[in-house]
Amino acid sequence: MRTQFTGQLLSPGDAGYDDVRKVWNGMHDRRPALIARCLTAEDVSAAVRYAGTAGLPVTVRGGGHNVAGTAVADGALMIDLSLMRAVSVDLAAEVAEAEGGCLLADVDAATTPHGLACPAGVVSHTGLAGLALGGGYGWLARKWGLTCDHILAAEVVLADGSIVQATPDEHADLLWGLRGGGGNFGIVTRFRLRLRQVGSVHHQVGVYPLDEAARALAEYRVFAENQHPDMHAVGCMKIAGRQDWIPRSLWGQPALFLTAVWLGAPEQGPEAATGLFGKAVPAGSLSRQLTYAELQALGDHGEPHGNRYFTKSCYLGDISPEAAAAFLTSARDVRSPLSSIDFEYLRGEITGVPDAESAFPRRDAPYIYTASAQWTDPAQDAENIAWTRRSVEQLEPWHYGGAYVNYVQDEPAAKVREVYREDRYRNLMALKSQYDPANVLRSNQNIVPARAE
Ligand SMILES: Cc1cc2nc3c(=O)[nH]c(=O)nc-3n(C[C@H](O)[C@H](O)[C@H](O)COP(=O)(O)OP(=O)(O)OC[C@H]3O[C@@H](n4cnc5c(N)ncnc54)[C@H](O)[C@@H]3O)c2cc1C
Repeated sequence: MRTQFTGQLLSPGDAGYDDVRKVWNGMHDRRPALIARCLTAEDVSAAVRYAGTAGLPVTVRGGGHNVAGTAVADGALMIDLSLMRAVSVDLAAEVAEAEGGCLLADVDAATTPHGLACPAGVVSHTGLAGLALGGGYGWLARKWGLTCDHILAAEVVLADGSIVQATPDEHADLLWGLRGGGGNFGIVTRFRLRLRQVGSVHHQVGVYPLDEAARALAEYRVFAENQHPDMHAVGCMKIAGRQDWIPRSLWGQPALFLTAVWLGAPEQGPEAATGLFGKAVPAGSLSRQLTYAELQALGDHGEPHGNRYFTKSCYLGDISPEAAAAFLTSARDVRSPLSSIDFEYLRGEITGVPDAESAFPRRDAPYIYTASAQWTDPAQDAENIAWTRRSVEQLEPWHYGGAYVNYVQDEPAAKVREVYREDRYRNLMALKSQYDPANVLRSNQNIVPARAE
């Protein structure tokens, strides 16, 4: 391998090994046998082939953000793509080529100066590959669809080391699987992404004490379910910080935050948001124009690398008053001042993309709800993990079924089957048998090859 490989190989004890093996979630302190820091698709191919001959399990690291820490495993060969972050933009075609180790910020940095963006997630240090392959919710999803809906083509290293192009004409079945099937079918070394035109946005946040939050949640439900495609309204419950616009009485208290982002002409934003904030008048509010790049970086400081994280997520069919009451119970019960509960109404163009065009399941899910525990002291693991579990379990009467695959963490293998539903899962198993029959790529939310079942 050393003769073919142009990148960097790191073994335990080498300088840099301990930095590179780290992933975002500090819960996963694992020690790979070898880290292959790849520079090219050929490097990735050499690494996969070597793992096969050496009998090493393989993990793939894009941005290292998966909460389950699937990018790293004890004793495995970690294929690290973090040196492959180049992006080029074809302005006329409104298309970007992004390497498989890009963070969302890398793509935004190349596209947003031209008024273009690929719809993606809301924290810009997240990896493009893991996010896009599993779906990709974000501010633009209701208007334009998911990140996976914007994968036009991909260069992929398969589990046997061969390098193929997945396009609508070549390996079209593979392209279908990459749009939502996760990292199961190959290692993507380059994405070809469709871009959308973006400009400044209107961004408005209101904060509510939990005692007044039930009414605000009821107004959110009405507003969100009827919102214009240019509007994306989300909610969050967390401990209020000490910002000037937040009343002092709420500082340090659990509170509800509702946010409306208007993607149309920014000057129309305040009027468009009155349907929410005019009816659920907040205790404090912030209203401003942001560039799209600023919007994308807003969430970057709240979830830093290295803290301990545990996430549970579910789709909800509704936020009835009873469901809203359960939200508030969780918010009051929170165990760490760093934790948060996020929820949002989805639909819009997410459902506009025909179901058959991608592996991504449950496009019609109305709401997503995610309890994210964040803390620093390992002694507090148990109570924080228990809080997230309780938070999602108590919403069971409103569960829509399935879950967002990128937030599946320590659930039993059957959960992945439930995520995709039986018919789609069977198609994915057949695809897996074709592209990775030995399940080399199994450190992920795993789809089992049909013959291995
Ligand atoms: C702070 C934070 C914010 C988030 N916000 C959002 C959000 O707004 N919207 C949203 O939809 N999701 C969001 N997520 C979830 C995110 O989509 C997943 O965590 C995703 O797995 C991250 O991708 P990554 O490349 O960083 O992951 P990694 O941990 O590097 O990889 C996870 C898995 O993805 C696969 N993989 C990674 N790179 C490749 C590749 N190049 N080729 C093939 N397989 C690969 C592998 O199976 C790997 O095990 C967020 C996560 C975090 C931690």
